[in-house]
Amino acid sequence: MRQDQEDPYQRRSAQVYAAADRAGSGSVASPRQVLYDAVLLDRDGTLIEDVPYNGDPEKVRPVPGARAALDRLRAAGLRLAVVTNQSGLARGYFTGEQMRAVHARVEELLGRFDAWLVCPHDDADGCDCRKPAPGLVYAAARELGTTASRCVLVGDIGRDVGAALAAGAAGVLVPTPVTRPEEIAAAGWVATDLPAAVAEILRRQQAVQPSTPPTAPVRTALVVRSDSAGDVLVTGPAIRAVAAGAERVVLLCGPRGRAAANLLPGVDEIIEHPLPWIDPTPGPVDPEAMRSLTARLGAVGVDQAVVFTSFHQSALPLALLLRMAGIDRIAAISDDYPGSLLDIRHRVPGGVPEPERALSLAAAAGHRLPDGDEPVLRLRRDAVPPRPAGLGDPGYVVLHPGSAASSRACPPEVATRIVGALTDAGHRVLVTGGRDERAVTARVAAAGGTDLGGSTDLAGLAAIVADAGAVVVGNTGPAHLAAAAGVPVVSLFAPTVPFGQWGPYRVPTVRLGDAAAPCRDTRAASCPVPGHPCLSGVDPDEVVDALRTLAVSGGGSQ
Ligand SMILES: [Zn+2]
Repeated sequence: MRQDQEDPYQRRSAQVYAAADRAGSGSVASPRQVLYDAVLLDRDGTLIEDVPYNGDPEKVRPVPGARAALDRLRAAGLRLAVVTNQSGLARGYFTGEQMRAVHARVEELLGRFDAWLVCPHDDADGCDCRKPAPGLVYAAARELGTTASRCVLVGDIGRDVGAALAAGAAGVLVPTPVTRPEEIAAAGWVATDLPAAVAEILRRQQAVQPSTPPTAPVRTALVVRSDSAGDVLVTGPAIRAVAAGAERVVLLCGPRGRAAANLLPGVDEIIEHPLPWIDPTPGPVDPEAMRSLTARLGAVGVDQAVVFTSFHQSALPLALLLRMAGIDRIAAISDDYPGSLLDIRHRVPGGVPEPERALSLAAAAGHRLPDGDEPVLRLRRDAVPPRPAGLGDPGYVVLHPGSAASSRACPPEVATRIVGALTDAGHRVLVTGGRDERAVTARVAAAGGTDLGGSTDLAGLAAIVADAGAVVVGNTGPAHLAAAAGVPVVSLFAPTVPFGQWGPYRVPTVRLGDAAAPCRDTRAASCPVPGHPCLSGVDPDEVVDALRTLAVSGGGSQ
C-alpha cells in the first residue's frame, strides 16, 4: 500500500497522501448513478473510535455496524475513500509508518478503501487540505475519477461538513458526544449513526432513479412550479429529467417565477398564471380567471402533468383544475389524501434538498436525468445576455444584501461592514439588488463597492453573477442563480428554513450566520427576533476567511 505519493494537488505546503496505485482507471460503476459516485469517510470518530493521536494498530476499534454499512455502499457500486486530518504527524506524535500500520488494521477490519487522503498538517501550517479546507475532498474526488459534487462526505464534526460544502460535495454529520451543538445545528444533513447515514445515502440515490418508465409515451408534459425565482431554479434538474422523457415541455409558473423560468434549459413553452393558494400574499380566487386557466391548460394537449411544490404547499387545488382540463396522468407530492386527483402520489421525507426532492417526483413519474446531465442547477446559455460593460475583469465579488423575505436578508449595517472588509482585503465588490432595494444597495456600496441596485433584470443579474469569483448572499433567489452558474457562495443563511433543503446546491459554499438562532425553522417572512441575531452577528472577517477557503483571491488583481 503506497501512501507516500505526493499528490499533484499540492499547493502551498500541502501534502496529500493517497493510495494512488488503487485508483484504477477512474471509471465509475455501471449503470451510472444519478447523484453520487463516491462516499468519503472521516476516520476518527466516524469509522473507528477516536483514540487521540493513535499510532497503535491494536487500538483500532470500528464503530458499531461499520463493516456492514460500508459493504452496502460497495455493493451499490459506490467507491470509498477515507479523508482524515492527522496533525499528529506534524506534531511528531506518531510516524508515517505507524499511521500506515493503523490504516492496514482499519482495512483488515472494515475492508478495502479505494483511496486514503491524509492531511498531515497543523492549523498553523495554513495548508489547503486540513478540513474544513476543501483540499482533501478535491484530492479524493480526483483519485476516484469523479468530481467533488458527485461525492458525499460522512464525518462527526463541523470541520468535516465544512470541507464537504466548501468543495461542493454533500456532507452528512454523524454526531458523537464530542460534537458541539452549534455544529449539529449548522449541518444540513444529520444522521444518528454510520449505518443510518449509509441507509439515507442509498435511499436518496435510489429515489431519483425511476423503477419503471412512464406507463405510456409522453409527447407533451406539463410541469408546474408556481412560486418564486429561486423555487423555479431549484426545480431545474427535475424539469430537465422530464424533458429527457418527453417531446415537449410546457411550464406553468407564476408571475414571481417567470423571469427564472425563461432561464431554464428543457422548457419549450411557458404559461404564466398566478395560483392564489400558493402565493404568500394571495389575491382572491377569481372564478373567471380559473375557468380561463383551465381552458388554456385543456388546449395544451397534455399527456402527463408533474406538479412540483414545496413541502408546505398543496398540489391538490391545481390537480383538480388539471382534471377538469381533461388531464389523465398527474403526479405530485402529497401528504394529504388525494383521492382520485393524482394517479402518482409521491411522498418524500423531510430534509432532502429541494432539487433532489423534485428529481424524486420526476423519477416517480418515470423520468431521470440522462447520462451526461449532472444533477446541478443550470441556466440556458442563450437566455443570459452579455455582461454589462464597465464592470472590469471577471473575479469580482457580488454582494446581494436583500431578499424578498426580510427575515432572510443581510442587515444593511452588516452588509456595509462586509463591503469594507472585502475592499480592505483587495476584493472588488459589486452590490446588487432589485429596484425596490436601491436605497439599501446605495448605502451598502458606499463603503467601497459599486452600486448596481435596480440596474438589471434577473437575466442581467445572471450575467453579472456568472463572472463573479463568489457571491455573498442570503437564502434568496440569487444564491440559486450563483449555484446555477457554478459560482461559489458565501451563504449568509438565516435558519428560518432548513439549510439542508434550501442551501446552495452542489456548488462550493461556506455557511455563515447563527444556525441555532431562535428564528430556526419558523419559516417567518420577517424576523420574529429583535435585532435579527442570526445574521447581525456575522463578523465581516468571517466573509474574508470564507473567500480564502473558497480560493477566491482579491479581485482580479493578477
Ligand atoms: Zn494539510
